[in-house]
Amino acid sequence: MKLMITTILTCLLLWSVMLLSFSNIFKHQLLGDTVNVSSKDSVKPRDKLLGGLLTADFDEDSCLSRYQYQSSLYRKPSPYNTSQYLVSKLRNYEMLHKRCGPDTDAYKIATEKLGHDHDENVGDRSVGECKYIVWVAVYGLGNRILTLASVFLYALLTDRIILVDQRKDISDLFCEPFPGTSWLLPLDFPLMGKIDSFDREYSRCHGTMLKNHTINSTIIPSHLYLHLLHDYRDQDKRFFCQKDHSLVDKVPWLVVKSNLYFIPSLWLNPSFQPELIKLFPQKDTVFYHLARYLFHPTNQVWGMVTRSYNAYLSRADEILGIQVRVFSRQTKYFQHVMNQIVACTQREKLLPEAAAQEEPQVTNTTKPPKLIAVLVTSLHPGYSNNLKNMYWERPTSTGEIVKVYQPSGERFQQTDKKLHDQKALAEMYLLSLTDKLVTSAWSTFGYVAQGLGGLKPWILYTPKKFKTPDPPCGRGVSMEPCFLTPPVHGCGAKKGINTAKIVPFVRHCEDLRHYGLKLVDDTKDEL
Ligand code: GDP
Repeated sequence: MKLMITTILTCLLLWSVMLLSFSNIFKHQLLGDTVNVSSKDSVKPRDKLLGGLLTADFDEDSCLSRYQYQSSLYRKPSPYNTSQYLVSKLRNYEMLHKRCGPDTDAYKIATEKLGHDHDENVGDRSVGECKYIVWVAVYGLGNRILTLASVFLYALLTDRIILVDQRKDISDLFCEPFPGTSWLLPLDFPLMGKIDSFDREYSRCHGTMLKNHTINSTIIPSHLYLHLLHDYRDQDKRFFCQKDHSLVDKVPWLVVKSNLYFIPSLWLNPSFQPELIKLFPQKDTVFYHLARYLFHPTNQVWGMVTRSYNAYLSRADEILGIQVRVFSRQTKYFQHVMNQIVACTQREKLLPEAAAQEEPQVTNTTKPPKLIAVLVTSLHPGYSNNLKNMYWERPTSTGEIVKVYQPSGERFQQTDKKLHDQKALAEMYLLSLTDKLVTSAWSTFGYVAQGLGGLKPWILYTPKKFKTPDPPCGRGVSMEPCFLTPPVHGCGAKKGINTAKIVPFVRHCEDLRHYGLKLVDDTKDEL
Protein backbone atom coordinates (compact mmCIF):
# COMPACT_ATOMS: atom_id res chain seq x y z
CA MET A 1 0.00 0.00 0.00
CA LYS A 2 2.80 2.34 1.10
CA LEU A 3 4.67 1.53 -2.09
CA MET A 4 1.54 2.26 -4.17
CA ILE A 5 1.00 5.65 -2.51
CA THR A 6 4.70 6.54 -3.02
CA THR A 7 4.47 5.54 -6.71
CA ILE A 8 1.29 7.63 -7.24
CA LEU A 9 2.88 10.63 -5.47
CA THR A 10 6.07 10.33 -7.55
CA CYS A 11 4.00 10.16 -10.77
CA LEU A 12 2.01 13.22 -9.73
CA LEU A 13 5.24 15.08 -8.97
CA LEU A 14 6.77 14.14 -12.31
CA TRP A 15 3.56 15.11 -14.10
CA SER A 16 3.47 18.56 -12.47
CA VAL A 17 7.18 19.12 -13.26
CA MET A 18 6.46 18.20 -16.88
CA LEU A 19 3.45 20.50 -16.97
CA LEU A 20 5.49 23.31 -15.49
CA SER A 21 8.30 22.93 -18.02
CA PHE A 22 5.80 22.63 -20.89
CA SER A 23 4.08 25.78 -19.78
CA ASN A 24 7.48 27.49 -19.59
CA ILE A 25 8.38 26.39 -23.09
CA PHE A 26 4.95 27.51 -24.23
CA LYS A 27 5.36 30.86 -22.48
CA HIS A 28 8.77 31.34 -24.07
CA GLN A 29 7.36 30.52 -27.46
CA LEU A 30 4.54 32.93 -26.90
CA LEU A 31 6.92 35.56 -25.63
CA GLY A 32 9.22 34.94 -28.56
CA ASP A 33 6.34 35.48 -30.92
CA THR A 34 5.20 38.57 -29.08
CA VAL A 35 8.67 40.06 -29.18
CA ASN A 36 9.06 39.34 -32.88
CA VAL A 37 5.70 40.68 -33.78
CA SER A 38 5.90 43.81 -31.73
CA SER A 39 9.49 44.69 -32.68
CA LYS A 40 9.59 45.13 -36.42
CA ASP A 41 7.03 42.91 -38.07
CA SER A 42 3.33 43.16 -38.64
CA VAL A 43 0.99 40.44 -37.38
CA LYS A 44 1.04 38.60 -40.72
CA PRO A 45 3.75 35.88 -40.92
CA ARG A 46 6.52 36.99 -43.27
CA ASP A 47 6.57 35.42 -46.71
CA LYS A 48 10.13 34.21 -46.94
CA LEU A 49 9.91 33.65 -50.70
CA LEU A 50 8.95 37.30 -51.20
CA GLY A 51 5.71 36.66 -53.03
CA GLY A 52 7.33 34.05 -55.25
CA LEU A 53 10.31 36.20 -56.22
CA LEU A 54 12.61 33.58 -54.70
CA THR A 55 12.40 29.90 -55.52
CA ALA A 56 12.08 27.34 -52.73
CA ASP A 57 14.55 25.03 -54.48
CA PHE A 58 17.62 25.96 -52.43
CA ASP A 59 19.14 24.47 -49.31
CA GLU A 60 18.75 27.23 -46.70
CA ASP A 61 21.97 26.64 -44.76
CA SER A 62 24.24 26.90 -47.78
CA CYS A 63 23.27 30.53 -48.14
CA LEU A 64 21.66 31.95 -45.01
CA SER A 65 21.11 35.44 -46.41
CA ARG A 66 18.82 34.18 -49.16
CA TYR A 67 15.84 33.75 -46.85
CA GLN A 68 17.06 35.73 -43.80
CA TYR A 69 17.65 39.14 -45.38
CA GLN A 70 13.92 39.85 -45.48
CA SER A 71 13.22 38.37 -42.05
CA SER A 72 11.46 40.43 -39.42
CA LEU A 73 14.67 40.43 -37.37
CA TYR A 74 16.19 42.89 -39.80
CA ARG A 75 13.49 44.39 -41.98
CA LYS A 76 10.08 45.92 -41.90
CA PRO A 77 7.62 44.21 -44.28
CA SER A 78 8.24 45.22 -47.89
CA PRO A 79 5.75 47.81 -49.16
CA TYR A 80 6.53 46.84 -52.77
CA ASN A 81 4.74 43.88 -54.31
CA THR A 82 6.34 41.63 -56.89
CA SER A 83 4.30 41.27 -60.08
CA GLN A 84 3.19 37.73 -60.93
CA TYR A 85 4.49 38.35 -64.42
CA LEU A 86 8.00 38.90 -63.04
CA VAL A 87 7.67 35.74 -60.96
CA SER A 88 6.76 33.59 -63.97
CA LYS A 89 9.46 35.22 -66.09
CA LEU A 90 12.05 34.33 -63.44
CA ARG A 91 10.87 30.71 -63.19
CA ASN A 92 11.10 30.40 -66.99
CA TYR A 93 14.55 31.97 -66.92
CA GLU A 94 15.68 29.45 -64.29
CA MET A 95 14.56 26.57 -66.54
CA LEU A 96 16.36 28.08 -69.52
CA HIS A 97 19.54 28.58 -67.48
CA LYS A 98 19.39 24.96 -66.35
CA ARG A 99 19.04 23.84 -69.96
CA CYS A 100 21.81 26.05 -71.35
CA GLY A 101 24.16 26.61 -68.40
CA PRO A 102 27.68 25.23 -67.90
CA ASP A 103 28.01 21.45 -68.10
CA THR A 104 25.09 21.04 -70.50
CA ASP A 105 25.18 19.77 -74.06
CA ALA A 106 23.76 23.08 -75.24
CA TYR A 107 26.67 24.98 -73.63
CA LYS A 108 29.17 22.57 -75.19
CA ILE A 109 27.67 23.02 -78.64
CA ALA A 110 27.54 26.81 -78.26
CA THR A 111 31.20 27.06 -77.23
CA GLU A 112 32.27 24.80 -80.09
CA LYS A 113 30.63 27.23 -82.50
CA LEU A 114 32.63 30.17 -81.16
CA GLY A 115 34.97 31.32 -83.87
CA HIS A 116 32.67 30.25 -86.71
CA ASP A 117 30.57 33.10 -88.01
CA HIS A 118 27.19 32.11 -89.30
CA ASP A 119 25.91 32.78 -92.80
CA GLU A 120 22.14 33.30 -92.64
CA ASN A 121 21.76 32.27 -96.27
CA VAL A 122 22.96 28.77 -95.37
CA GLY A 123 19.98 28.27 -93.07
CA ASP A 124 19.55 27.94 -89.34
CA ARG A 125 21.19 24.55 -88.83
CA SER A 126 24.44 25.84 -87.34
CA VAL A 127 22.78 28.09 -84.75
CA GLY A 128 22.48 26.49 -81.30
CA GLU A 129 19.34 26.79 -79.18
CA CYS A 130 20.94 28.96 -76.48
CA LYS A 131 22.30 32.52 -76.56
CA TYR A 132 24.58 33.95 -73.90
CA ILE A 133 25.78 37.22 -72.43
CA VAL A 134 29.04 37.18 -70.51
CA TRP A 135 29.49 39.77 -67.77
CA VAL A 136 33.08 40.81 -67.10
CA ALA A 137 34.01 42.34 -63.70
CA VAL A 138 35.37 45.88 -64.01
CA TYR A 139 35.52 48.85 -61.60
CA GLY A 140 34.43 48.96 -57.94
CA LEU A 141 31.89 46.69 -56.27
CA GLY A 142 28.98 49.15 -56.46
CA ASN A 143 29.56 49.52 -60.21
CA ARG A 144 29.72 45.74 -60.58
CA ILE A 145 26.46 45.13 -58.75
CA LEU A 146 24.62 47.73 -60.84
CA THR A 147 25.94 46.33 -64.12
CA LEU A 148 25.18 42.74 -63.12
CA ALA A 149 21.58 43.76 -62.49
CA SER A 150 21.45 45.62 -65.83
CA VAL A 151 22.95 42.72 -67.78
CA PHE A 152 20.62 40.24 -66.07
CA LEU A 153 17.56 42.30 -66.99
CA TYR A 154 18.80 42.50 -70.58
CA ALA A 155 19.22 38.69 -70.54
CA LEU A 156 15.65 38.27 -69.22
CA LEU A 157 14.28 40.51 -71.97
CA THR A 158 16.15 38.81 -74.78
CA ASP A 159 16.07 35.16 -73.64
CA ARG A 160 19.80 34.99 -73.12
CA ILE A 161 21.76 33.22 -70.40
CA ILE A 162 23.91 35.40 -68.16
CA LEU A 163 27.31 33.96 -67.30
CA VAL A 164 29.62 35.71 -64.89
CA ASP A 165 33.40 36.01 -65.16
CA GLN A 166 34.55 34.29 -61.96
CA ARG A 167 38.27 35.17 -62.07
CA LYS A 168 37.74 38.01 -59.59
CA ASP A 169 36.20 37.37 -56.16
CA ILE A 170 32.53 37.13 -57.18
CA SER A 171 31.98 33.71 -55.59
CA ASP A 172 33.41 34.95 -52.26
CA LEU A 173 30.72 37.63 -52.31
CA PHE A 174 27.55 36.08 -53.67
CA CYS A 175 25.79 32.71 -53.59
CA GLU A 176 24.53 31.14 -56.78
CA PRO A 177 21.20 32.75 -57.74
CA PHE A 178 19.73 30.08 -60.02
CA PRO A 179 18.82 26.62 -58.66
CA GLY A 180 20.39 23.43 -59.99
CA THR A 181 22.95 25.15 -62.21
CA SER A 182 25.70 27.79 -62.06
CA TRP A 183 26.02 31.37 -63.24
CA LEU A 184 29.83 31.16 -63.22
CA LEU A 185 31.48 31.19 -66.64
CA PRO A 186 33.67 28.05 -66.81
CA LEU A 187 37.37 28.88 -66.60
CA ASP A 188 38.02 26.95 -69.82
CA PHE A 189 35.67 29.19 -71.82
CA PRO A 190 37.40 29.48 -75.23
CA LEU A 191 37.62 33.32 -75.19
CA MET A 192 38.85 33.51 -71.59
CA GLY A 193 42.44 34.33 -72.54
CA LYS A 194 41.35 37.23 -74.74
CA ILE A 195 38.58 38.87 -72.73
CA ASP A 196 40.85 41.22 -70.78
CA SER A 197 42.12 42.75 -74.02
CA PHE A 198 38.64 43.49 -75.40
CA ASP A 199 38.26 47.25 -75.78
CA ARG A 200 36.85 49.88 -78.13
CA GLU A 201 39.44 49.02 -80.77
CA TYR A 202 38.61 45.32 -80.89
CA SER A 203 37.42 44.34 -84.38
CA ARG A 204 34.41 42.49 -82.91
CA CYS A 205 33.39 45.47 -80.77
CA HIS A 206 29.82 46.36 -81.79
CA GLY A 207 30.51 50.13 -81.87
CA THR A 208 33.69 49.63 -83.88
CA MET A 209 31.89 47.46 -86.43
CA LEU A 210 29.21 50.14 -86.82
CA LYS A 211 31.89 52.83 -87.12
CA ASN A 212 33.85 50.90 -89.74
CA HIS A 213 30.71 49.75 -91.59
CA THR A 214 31.82 46.13 -91.24
CA ILE A 215 28.38 44.91 -90.29
CA ASN A 216 26.96 42.58 -92.89
CA SER A 217 23.29 41.82 -92.59
CA THR A 218 23.67 38.16 -93.52
CA ILE A 219 26.89 37.19 -91.73
CA ILE A 220 26.22 36.81 -88.01
CA PRO A 221 29.38 36.99 -85.92
CA SER A 222 29.73 34.16 -83.40
CA HIS A 223 30.50 36.74 -80.73
CA LEU A 224 30.37 40.49 -80.21
CA TYR A 225 31.96 42.69 -77.58
CA LEU A 226 29.75 45.41 -76.10
CA HIS A 227 31.68 48.40 -74.79
CA LEU A 228 29.28 50.01 -72.33
CA LEU A 229 31.77 51.92 -70.23
CA HIS A 230 31.64 55.65 -69.41
CA ASP A 231 34.03 56.39 -72.31
CA TYR A 232 31.78 54.81 -74.93
CA ARG A 233 31.21 56.43 -78.33
CA ASP A 234 27.97 57.28 -80.11
CA GLN A 235 28.31 54.02 -82.07
CA ASP A 236 28.60 51.96 -78.87
CA LYS A 237 25.48 53.70 -77.54
CA ARG A 238 23.51 52.42 -80.52
CA PHE A 239 23.31 49.12 -78.64
CA PHE A 240 20.29 50.69 -76.88
CA CYS A 241 18.51 51.54 -80.14
CA GLN A 242 15.74 49.38 -81.52
CA LYS A 243 16.89 49.57 -85.13
CA ASP A 244 20.50 48.60 -84.39
CA HIS A 245 19.44 45.74 -82.23
CA SER A 246 18.36 43.26 -84.88
CA LEU A 247 21.93 42.12 -85.53
CA VAL A 248 22.93 42.01 -81.85
CA ASP A 249 19.90 39.88 -81.16
CA LYS A 250 21.10 37.11 -83.48
CA VAL A 251 24.65 36.86 -82.13
CA PRO A 252 25.06 33.75 -79.95
CA TRP A 253 27.69 35.17 -77.61
CA LEU A 254 27.82 38.74 -76.27
CA VAL A 255 30.63 39.80 -73.97
CA VAL A 256 30.03 43.02 -72.07
CA LYS A 257 32.19 45.35 -70.03
CA SER A 258 30.21 48.04 -68.29
CA ASN A 259 30.29 50.37 -65.33
CA LEU A 260 26.86 51.84 -66.02
CA TYR A 261 23.39 51.19 -64.63
CA PHE A 262 21.91 51.21 -68.11
CA ILE A 263 18.38 50.02 -67.26
CA PRO A 264 16.74 53.45 -67.91
CA SER A 265 17.87 53.22 -71.56
CA LEU A 266 16.25 49.78 -71.92
CA TRP A 267 12.96 51.45 -70.93
CA LEU A 268 13.42 53.96 -73.74
CA ASN A 269 13.66 51.17 -76.33
CA PRO A 270 10.12 50.62 -77.73
CA SER A 271 10.73 46.91 -78.24
CA PHE A 272 11.38 46.37 -74.51
CA GLN A 273 9.02 48.91 -72.97
CA PRO A 274 5.70 46.94 -73.02
CA GLU A 275 7.39 43.93 -71.42
CA LEU A 276 9.10 46.09 -68.81
CA ILE A 277 5.82 47.71 -67.83
CA LYS A 278 4.33 44.27 -67.21
CA LEU A 279 7.38 43.12 -65.24
CA PHE A 280 7.60 46.26 -63.11
CA PRO A 281 4.23 48.04 -62.87
CA GLN A 282 5.80 50.32 -60.25
CA LYS A 283 8.67 51.61 -62.30
CA ASP A 284 11.02 52.75 -59.56
CA THR A 285 11.26 49.22 -58.10
CA VAL A 286 13.35 47.62 -60.85
CA PHE A 287 16.66 47.44 -59.00
CA TYR A 288 14.87 46.68 -55.72
CA HIS A 289 13.26 43.50 -57.09
CA LEU A 290 16.18 42.41 -59.28
CA ALA A 291 18.67 42.84 -56.45
CA ARG A 292 16.60 40.90 -53.95
CA TYR A 293 16.30 38.11 -56.49
CA LEU A 294 19.89 38.03 -57.74
CA PHE A 295 22.20 39.02 -54.90
CA HIS A 296 22.59 36.87 -51.81
CA PRO A 297 25.75 37.50 -49.80
CA THR A 298 27.75 34.39 -48.90
CA ASN A 299 27.59 33.11 -45.32
CA GLN A 300 30.90 34.84 -44.55
CA VAL A 301 29.59 38.26 -45.65
CA TRP A 302 26.19 37.65 -44.08
CA GLY A 303 27.96 36.85 -40.78
CA MET A 304 29.55 40.30 -40.90
CA VAL A 305 26.17 41.89 -41.54
CA THR A 306 24.31 40.10 -38.76
CA ARG A 307 27.10 40.46 -36.16
CA SER A 308 27.27 44.20 -36.78
CA TYR A 309 23.51 44.56 -36.81
CA ASN A 310 22.97 42.60 -33.59
CA ALA A 311 25.85 44.23 -31.72
CA TYR A 312 25.30 47.86 -32.69
CA LEU A 313 21.98 48.50 -34.37
CA SER A 314 19.20 46.10 -33.41
CA ARG A 315 18.30 47.73 -30.10
CA ALA A 316 17.95 51.24 -31.46
CA ASP A 317 14.54 52.88 -31.87
CA GLU A 318 15.67 54.31 -35.18
CA ILE A 319 18.66 53.67 -37.43
CA LEU A 320 20.12 56.37 -39.65
CA GLY A 321 22.66 55.37 -42.32
CA ILE A 322 25.20 57.89 -43.60
CA GLN A 323 27.32 56.86 -46.59
CA VAL A 324 30.28 59.16 -47.08
CA ARG A 325 32.09 58.87 -50.40
CA VAL A 326 34.62 61.55 -51.28
CA PHE A 327 35.90 61.44 -54.84
CA SER A 328 39.45 62.71 -54.41
CA ARG A 329 42.81 61.28 -55.32
CA GLN A 330 43.75 60.59 -51.72
CA THR A 331 41.39 59.46 -48.97
CA LYS A 332 41.58 62.49 -46.74
CA TYR A 333 39.40 64.00 -44.06
CA PHE A 334 37.77 67.18 -45.36
CA GLN A 335 36.25 69.64 -42.88
CA HIS A 336 33.80 70.96 -45.48
CA VAL A 337 32.41 67.42 -45.91
CA MET A 338 32.04 67.06 -42.12
CA ASN A 339 30.21 70.40 -41.99
CA GLN A 340 27.99 69.20 -44.83
CA ILE A 341 27.04 66.00 -42.96
CA VAL A 342 26.11 67.98 -39.83
CA ALA A 343 24.26 70.66 -41.83
CA CYS A 344 22.29 68.06 -43.77
CA THR A 345 21.30 65.83 -40.86
CA GLN A 346 20.19 68.79 -38.73
CA ARG A 347 18.43 70.78 -41.43
CA GLU A 348 16.49 67.67 -42.51
CA LYS A 349 15.83 66.77 -38.84
CA LEU A 350 17.49 63.39 -39.24
CA LEU A 351 19.54 63.94 -36.09
CA PRO A 352 18.86 66.18 -33.09
CA GLU A 353 21.03 69.23 -32.53
CA ALA A 354 23.78 68.98 -29.98
CA ALA A 355 23.11 71.62 -27.30
CA ALA A 356 25.47 74.61 -27.30
CA GLN A 357 26.70 73.78 -23.82
CA GLU A 358 26.04 71.37 -21.02
CA GLU A 359 22.62 72.09 -19.58
CA PRO A 360 20.95 70.42 -16.60
CA GLN A 361 19.22 67.35 -17.99
CA VAL A 362 15.72 66.50 -16.89
CA THR A 363 15.79 62.73 -16.80
CA ASN A 364 12.52 60.90 -17.27
CA THR A 365 12.96 57.82 -15.13
CA THR A 366 9.77 56.10 -16.29
CA LYS A 367 10.58 56.07 -20.01
CA PRO A 368 14.04 55.49 -21.47
CA PRO A 369 15.14 58.15 -23.98
CA LYS A 370 14.83 57.42 -27.69
CA LEU A 371 17.98 55.79 -29.02
CA ILE A 372 19.13 56.71 -32.52
CA ALA A 373 21.90 54.52 -33.96
CA VAL A 374 23.92 56.13 -36.72
CA LEU A 375 25.69 53.75 -39.10
CA VAL A 376 28.46 55.59 -40.93
CA THR A 377 30.30 54.01 -43.85
CA SER A 378 33.35 55.68 -45.28
CA LEU A 379 36.89 54.86 -46.33
CA HIS A 380 38.02 57.43 -43.73
CA PRO A 381 37.19 57.00 -40.03
CA GLY A 382 37.30 60.77 -39.32
CA TYR A 383 33.64 61.62 -40.03
CA SER A 384 32.16 59.06 -37.65
CA ASN A 385 34.76 59.88 -34.97
CA ASN A 386 33.78 63.54 -35.08
CA LEU A 387 30.08 62.78 -35.00
CA LYS A 388 30.61 60.43 -32.06
CA ASN A 389 32.54 63.08 -30.14
CA MET A 390 29.93 65.70 -30.90
CA TYR A 391 27.19 63.63 -29.25
CA TRP A 392 29.43 62.52 -26.38
CA GLU A 393 30.70 65.93 -25.43
CA ARG A 394 27.30 67.64 -25.51
CA PRO A 395 23.74 66.52 -24.80
CA THR A 396 21.10 66.65 -27.51
CA SER A 397 18.48 69.39 -27.42
CA THR A 398 15.72 66.76 -27.45
CA GLY A 399 17.12 64.40 -24.83
CA GLU A 400 17.49 61.66 -27.44
CA ILE A 401 20.56 59.47 -27.29
CA VAL A 402 22.72 59.20 -30.41
CA LYS A 403 25.26 56.41 -30.81
CA VAL A 404 27.57 56.30 -33.79
CA TYR A 405 29.10 53.21 -35.35
CA GLN A 406 31.39 52.71 -38.34
CA PRO A 407 32.19 49.07 -39.20
CA SER A 408 35.38 49.59 -41.22
CA GLY A 409 37.79 52.35 -42.21
CA GLU A 410 39.77 50.84 -45.08
CA ARG A 411 41.47 54.16 -45.97
CA PHE A 412 41.81 53.37 -49.66
CA GLN A 413 39.98 51.39 -52.31
CA GLN A 414 41.36 47.85 -52.69
CA THR A 415 38.98 46.30 -55.22
CA ASP A 416 39.55 42.56 -55.84
CA LYS A 417 41.05 42.01 -52.38
CA LYS A 418 38.69 39.43 -50.94
CA LEU A 419 38.21 40.73 -47.38
CA HIS A 420 38.09 44.36 -48.50
CA ASP A 421 35.32 43.61 -51.00
CA GLN A 422 33.46 41.48 -48.46
CA LYS A 423 33.50 44.37 -45.98
CA ALA A 424 32.26 46.75 -48.67
CA LEU A 425 29.40 44.40 -49.52
CA ALA A 426 28.51 43.87 -45.86
CA GLU A 427 28.34 47.65 -45.42
CA MET A 428 26.07 48.12 -48.43
CA TYR A 429 23.70 45.54 -46.92
CA LEU A 430 23.90 47.16 -43.46
CA LEU A 431 23.05 50.55 -44.97
CA SER A 432 20.08 48.94 -46.70
CA LEU A 433 18.75 47.84 -43.30
CA THR A 434 18.50 51.39 -41.95
CA ASP A 435 15.28 53.37 -41.52
CA LYS A 436 16.59 56.54 -43.16
CA LEU A 437 19.58 56.93 -45.41
CA VAL A 438 21.94 59.73 -46.39
CA THR A 439 24.10 58.97 -49.44
CA SER A 440 26.82 60.72 -51.40
CA ALA A 441 26.11 62.05 -54.90
CA TRP A 442 27.36 59.98 -57.85
CA SER A 443 28.31 56.99 -55.74
CA THR A 444 27.24 53.57 -56.98
CA PHE A 445 28.05 52.23 -53.47
CA GLY A 446 25.22 54.38 -52.12
CA TYR A 447 22.93 53.56 -55.06
CA VAL A 448 23.17 49.85 -54.24
CA ALA A 449 22.31 50.46 -50.57
CA GLN A 450 19.30 52.67 -51.35
CA GLY A 451 18.01 50.33 -54.05
CA LEU A 452 18.32 47.19 -51.94
CA GLY A 453 16.69 48.88 -48.98
CA GLY A 454 13.88 50.48 -51.00
CA LEU A 455 14.91 53.81 -49.48
CA LYS A 456 14.61 57.27 -51.00
CA PRO A 457 17.84 58.78 -49.75
CA TRP A 458 18.86 62.27 -48.74
CA ILE A 459 21.70 62.96 -51.18
CA LEU A 460 24.77 64.94 -50.09
CA TYR A 461 25.39 67.14 -53.13
CA THR A 462 28.88 67.24 -54.60
CA PRO A 463 30.91 70.05 -53.00
CA LYS A 464 32.49 72.56 -55.40
CA LYS A 465 35.87 74.16 -54.70
CA PHE A 466 36.12 72.53 -51.26
CA LYS A 467 33.03 74.36 -49.98
CA THR A 468 29.97 72.93 -48.28
CA PRO A 469 27.17 73.22 -50.83
CA ASP A 470 24.00 75.13 -50.00
CA PRO A 471 21.66 73.33 -49.59
CA PRO A 472 23.92 70.56 -48.29
CA CYS A 473 21.59 67.78 -49.40
CA GLY A 474 18.19 67.05 -50.92
CA ARG A 475 15.70 64.18 -50.91
CA GLY A 476 15.86 61.74 -53.82
CA VAL A 477 12.61 61.30 -55.73
CA SER A 478 13.12 57.60 -56.20
CA MET A 479 15.15 54.73 -54.82
CA GLU A 480 16.45 53.76 -58.26
CA PRO A 481 20.16 54.17 -59.09
CA CYS A 482 21.19 56.85 -61.56
CA PHE A 483 22.46 56.00 -65.07
CA LEU A 484 25.35 58.45 -64.83
CA THR A 485 26.44 58.64 -68.47
CA PRO A 486 23.45 57.81 -70.69
CA PRO A 487 23.15 58.51 -74.42
CA VAL A 488 21.98 62.12 -74.53
CA HIS A 489 20.18 62.33 -77.84
CA GLY A 490 18.02 59.23 -78.03
CA CYS A 491 17.85 56.94 -81.05
CA GLY A 492 15.42 58.78 -83.30
CA ALA A 493 16.34 60.77 -86.36
CA LYS A 494 15.68 64.02 -84.45
CA LYS A 495 18.95 65.34 -83.05
CA GLY A 496 18.85 67.21 -79.78
CA ILE A 497 15.92 65.35 -78.25
CA ASN A 498 16.12 65.38 -74.45
CA THR A 499 16.08 61.76 -73.25
CA ALA A 500 14.64 62.88 -69.90
CA LYS A 501 11.53 64.18 -71.67
CA ILE A 502 10.58 61.16 -73.79
CA VAL A 503 8.48 59.33 -71.16
CA PRO A 504 7.27 60.58 -67.76
CA PHE A 505 9.01 57.80 -65.82
CA VAL A 506 12.58 58.46 -66.99
CA ARG A 507 13.93 61.70 -65.53
CA HIS A 508 17.23 63.43 -64.86
CA CYS A 509 18.86 62.42 -61.58
CA GLU A 510 18.81 64.66 -58.53
CA ASP A 511 22.61 64.41 -58.27
CA LEU A 512 23.28 64.92 -62.00
CA ARG A 513 20.53 67.28 -63.02
CA HIS A 514 21.28 67.92 -66.67
CA TYR A 515 22.71 64.58 -67.65
CA GLY A 516 22.01 61.42 -65.65
CA LEU A 517 18.82 59.40 -66.10
CA LYS A 518 16.78 57.51 -63.56
CA LEU A 519 13.46 55.72 -63.28
CA VAL A 520 10.76 57.30 -61.16
CA ASP A 521 7.27 56.15 -60.22
CA ASP A 522 4.92 58.02 -62.55
CA THR A 523 1.82 57.13 -60.56
CA LYS A 524 2.63 59.62 -57.80
CA ASP A 525 1.14 63.12 -57.64
CA GLU A 526 4.50 64.76 -56.94
CA LEU A 527 5.50 64.22 -60.58
P1 GDP B 1 31.69 54.33 -56.20
O1 GDP B 1 33.10 54.50 -56.67
O2 GDP B 1 31.36 55.20 -55.03
O3 GDP B 1 30.72 54.50 -57.31
O4 GDP B 1 31.49 52.85 -55.63
P2 GDP B 1 32.22 51.46 -55.96
O5 GDP B 1 31.70 50.50 -54.94
O6 GDP B 1 32.05 51.09 -57.37
O7 GDP B 1 33.78 51.70 -55.74
C1 GDP B 1 34.27 52.18 -54.53
C2 GDP B 1 35.01 51.10 -53.76
O8 GDP B 1 35.82 51.74 -52.74
C3 GDP B 1 34.11 50.16 -53.00
O9 GDP B 1 33.66 49.08 -53.75
C4 GDP B 1 35.01 49.74 -51.86
O10 GDP B 1 35.98 48.85 -52.33
C5 GDP B 1 35.69 51.06 -51.51
N1 GDP B 1 34.85 51.88 -50.63
C6 GDP B 1 34.35 53.12 -50.89
N2 GDP B 1 33.61 53.56 -49.86
C7 GDP B 1 33.62 52.58 -48.93
C8 GDP B 1 33.01 52.44 -47.64
O11 GDP B 1 32.29 53.30 -47.13
N3 GDP B 1 33.24 51.27 -46.98
C9 GDP B 1 34.02 50.28 -47.51
N4 GDP B 1 34.21 49.15 -46.79
N5 GDP B 1 34.62 50.38 -48.72
C10 GDP B 1 34.41 51.52 -49.42
